[in-house]
Amino acid sequence: MRDEDIFSLMPSIEVKDLWKSYGSIIALRGVNLRIEDGEYFCLLGPTGAGKTTLLKIIAGLLKQDRGEVLIDGVEVSSIPPELRGASYMPQGYALFPHMTIWENVSYGLSVREESLSQAEEILKLVGLWERRDSYPHELSGGQQQRIALARALASGSQILLLDEPLSALDALLNLQLRFELKKLAKELGLTVIHVTHNAEEALSIADKVAILRKGRIQQIGCPSEVYRSPVNLFTANFLGEINLFEGRLTGFLERMCIFKVKTLGELYTRRVQNIGLNAVIAYRPEDVEVAIDGWKEENFFKGVVETVENMGFYRRALIKVKGLEILAYLWIDAVDVQEGDNAYVYLPPDKALVFPYPKEGLEKSLLSE
Ligand code: ATP
Repeated sequence: MRDEDIFSLMPSIEVKDLWKSYGSIIALRGVNLRIEDGEYFCLLGPTGAGKTTLLKIIAGLLKQDRGEVLIDGVEVSSIPPELRGASYMPQGYALFPHMTIWENVSYGLSVREESLSQAEEILKLVGLWERRDSYPHELSGGQQQRIALARALASGSQILLLDEPLSALDALLNLQLRFELKKLAKELGLTVIHVTHNAEEALSIADKVAILRKGRIQQIGCPSEVYRSPVNLFTANFLGEINLFEGRLTGFLERMCIFKVKTLGELYTRRVQNIGLNAVIAYRPEDVEVAIDGWKEENFFKGVVETVENMGFYRRALIKVKGLEILAYLWIDAVDVQEGDNAYVYLPPDKALVFPYPKEGLEKSLLSE
């Protein structure tokens, strides 16, 4: 760490009521966040949600209109980017094409006239020390990505601000590097904000994830929490495929609600409070049970298998029930259904996610913009 850095190791980051506009476009609308020391935090949202804007404000590359950013408890608006103890890695990772790998990684250190030994250490850490004399175009996409990370790490900052660090990679490489990246961050004790529009990426590596939409935080929590208990339809839909049924509350039975769903009929869900008369009932495809025969008292429907897609270790089955299409994920060795088969669908009441019917209409509430 450099002498002039005023922040301690593993600093926390706090954002309070942050607002930012570009002319008439409001990019951030009162964002509040707290990222703990050493946390791997993913900022997730669709394109245009305000993710880059938020990251750049924390980095000190953009100025907010209103609100505060605190690093380790210190308000940083008057502190220039290079003294915030944070290293920002922009989208597309822009390596210097005319410089070797070594020059790319050690550039920041040499500009600051600091010892270059750290660059050597980090190149070894990302496994590319042997390629130090190569130029970026001589490396694969994944290797270039590692070099961009190495450059960010070589700054010695305890905070990494990564804007879509894996989006340029193919699916397999993305999968490999995401876990390497998290491991590296944990080993070095870094506090990381990782921006992505890829829900699966965020859910698989984040300690905590924040979902941003149209400049507003929708929900913050650990991945299982936001996936299992999304606060609204947008979040539920954005985090993975989902079945939606429009229902009208018709009564209660013990610890269950009874909804009338058009064409499907009665649907029982776990008891929910303050839902109003009209609701949307959501089921994750992995919660939908499919059987060839059997019988359950409620939420059991007969249908016909429309399509079955092989996804490797699971299958995506679309089952038509009374005019509605219900999507189910089936493990590869679970029930064997083929297109055209009769099948029963069971929607477990305790797995239902129930939301009030959105004021703006169902379609609009799911859209990102
Ligand atoms: P993406 O995933 O596409 O990078 P994002 O979530 O990072 O999107 P931002 O880049 O922060 O979103 O943009 C938020 C909003 O602000 C968008 O509507 C965008 O068009 C607008 N915006 C961003 N930068 C500028 C700018 N320099 N001038 C005008 N509008 C801007």
